[in-house]
Amino acid sequence: MILCGNPHAGYLARKAEIDAAVRRVFESGRYILGEEVSSFEREFADYLRIPHAIALGNGTDALYLALRACGIGAGDEVITVSHTATATAAAIVLSGATPVFVDIEPHYFTLDAEQLPAALTTKTKAILPVHLYGQAADMKPILDFAHEHDLRVIEDCAQSAGGEYGEARLSTLGDIGCFSFYPTKNLGAYGDGGMAVTRDSGLAEQLRCLRQYGWDESGSSREAGVNSRLDELQAAILRIGLSYLDVDNAQREVLASRYDRDLENTGLLLPVRRLTSRHVFHLYAVRHLRRDALLGHLREHGVRALVHYSVPVHLQPPYTGYASQTGTLPETERVAREVLSLPMYPQLSAVDQERVIDTIKAFGKESHD
Ligand SMILES: *Cc1c(COP(=O)(O)O)cnc(C)c1O
Repeated sequence: MILCGNPHAGYLARKAEIDAAVRRVFESGRYILGEEVSSFEREFADYLRIPHAIALGNGTDALYLALRACGIGAGDEVITVSHTATATAAAIVLSGATPVFVDIEPHYFTLDAEQLPAALTTKTKAILPVHLYGQAADMKPILDFAHEHDLRVIEDCAQSAGGEYGEARLSTLGDIGCFSFYPTKNLGAYGDGGMAVTRDSGLAEQLRCLRQYGWDESGSSREAGVNSRLDELQAAILRIGLSYLDVDNAQREVLASRYDRDLENTGLLLPVRRLTSRHVFHLYAVRHLRRDALLGHLREHGVRALVHYSVPVHLQPPYTGYASQTGTLPETERVAREVLSLPMYPQLSAVDQERVIDTIKAFGKESHD
């Protein structure tokens, strides 16, 4: 079976380094918020060219704590998309704020800035764009709108580690950038992990405080914080992953270009790259009018393509109460019926990729007969 993502292949490719790092941590006697975590925070911040990085327990917490650090909570509204991981909306609800869903630009799968004016109310406090599948949301109009209306911008970079918009690394454009290190992400741990990054030293201090019970220097709580710490083991492994992130992303781009070339005229709508950005292909998401039939055909032939995301967040039970401005999001709802993610991970072999391509071509032939 050819998998859609494959962190185990990533482990096998770097087994000696990862095993040595794991051993080093076990021998060190320090397991939570030690030197591995602080080194990883510094290295990740340097990579992004941003002053502050705060390691957290997972990506959902990164978004939730980013909202809290910005003082956003009950009574506030946060504009985001519905074509995303449920975690994006869950983090907003967790903060006490109300998600307001807007539609996407269908070719890019990211927040459509033209929808912002209609979603704005006196309660709007932030915009939470998602750089989905590894592609940047169109940040310029989003940032312009946010500045005009005095809103915070929190970037969901869970799928876009290493991605760029213009010259800037994604996560450095808004007030806070949030990452997940879930194993399948472009920078993946072997367990849970997350990170929030910011230029603002006040926000950084607030995030550090919130991640550990809201403690101040003396260990007395100044906020009702949480426990959301990255452990030493994951940090040590993530440091290795970070050193390969550019190489891995380059390999994802190579695979994407091959799909682009060989899947033309197969009935698939192929991903469109935003010209000003660097797409890092967390997923190679295509669209097809007979998506479910194609998915079944791929499965039958040993290719585990996946659907991210088959039910838009605003149509899932916990989130139906937070209607979008119009109640419907036509582009989001259409994409949910057509979208499909093909196998994409740095260790995907040329032979396996060819099998994916041939299987799709065979489906095209069958359906035209
Ligand atoms: C993975 C993901 C998250 C959540 O990250 P976790 O580490 O699983 O909590 C949030 N947003 C997006 C877009 C994601 O892909």
